[in-house]
Amino acid sequence: MMPGALHIAMYHYVRPILGSRFPAVKGLEIEQFKAQLDHFAAAYAVVTMEHVMAACRGLKDLPSKALLLSFDDGYSDHFVHVFPLLHERGWQGSFFVPSCVAGQREVLEVNMIQFALQCCPSSEEFARQIDFELSAERSDYCLQPIDFYHREYRKATRFDDPATAYVKRMLQVVLPSALRSRLVREAFLKWVTRDEVAFAQELYCNLDQLRMMQRCGMHIGAHGDRHRWLEELPRDEQRAEIRRSSAFLDKVGVPPHGRSFCYPSGSYNMLTLELLAESEFEIGLTTEVGCARCEPEMALVLPRYDTNDFFPRGAL
Ligand SMILES: [Zn+2]
Repeated sequence: MMPGALHIAMYHYVRPILGSRFPAVKGLEIEQFKAQLDHFAAAYAVVTMEHVMAACRGLKDLPSKALLLSFDDGYSDHFVHVFPLLHERGWQGSFFVPSCVAGQREVLEVNMIQFALQCCPSSEEFARQIDFELSAERSDYCLQPIDFYHREYRKATRFDDPATAYVKRMLQVVLPSALRSRLVREAFLKWVTRDEVAFAQELYCNLDQLRMMQRCGMHIGAHGDRHRWLEELPRDEQRAEIRRSSAFLDKVGVPPHGRSFCYPSGSYNMLTLELLAESEFEIGLTTEVGCARCEPEMALVLPRYDTNDFFPRGAL
């Protein structure tokens, strides 16, 4: 492998899934996570974010087969299951938390969509519900005819059947954001729970847990405020997302220098990079797939691999 080469593993849910309340969660079972950590111990050198930063500045070499572990979205899984296992091995994880979730009052729209899809009678039914609303709201929001949306977005993907892909796409990006937010919230309240606060408290880490992880040597990084797609936002809104992320890291107790930012849904543009370079952020993580090169010009656009690309499910 070339010098400065780094594998970054990306995780979301790590929890007992089979036999749980939400058996369709797309995540990693604890036993698989443990097996993966054993594999990493044998085949890779797990490095810290501080080491990666020094390597990107050209101050320090990375060992061969260097690996950074990254965990997105601030799930309580990370405190309850991941943190003890990493701590036991003396390894550091990097945890990217949308600042609004640590308040534990609200559930991110992206999570509302995931859980509504699991709890609804079928994704077909969910898609029909969206189409019903589209007809009702068409003139108010200047929407396209339903056929147009079906033609463009009702298509199977690597992971999803056509109806599921349609629901996700329509509610994540396609519809105007005010309409999107209303439909997501209604679906969540109808199919998942009416108690959003209790659900948020169960789903996400709180501030004290994040502070403890930070004090125990884990790296806590930014993941926006409300997990919005940054490339869709104008300058003042992108700046506000970044500013709120910085204020959140202050609250966790992360030192002002050597901060990192992981782009929510992998979404960023040139403006994002410009704004991050103006603030204290040194490292940016994307969802582009590949091996990262630790060089100054790459520091804000490091690609990652999904946990499923590694043993036991993948070949890495
Ligand atoms: Zn995320």
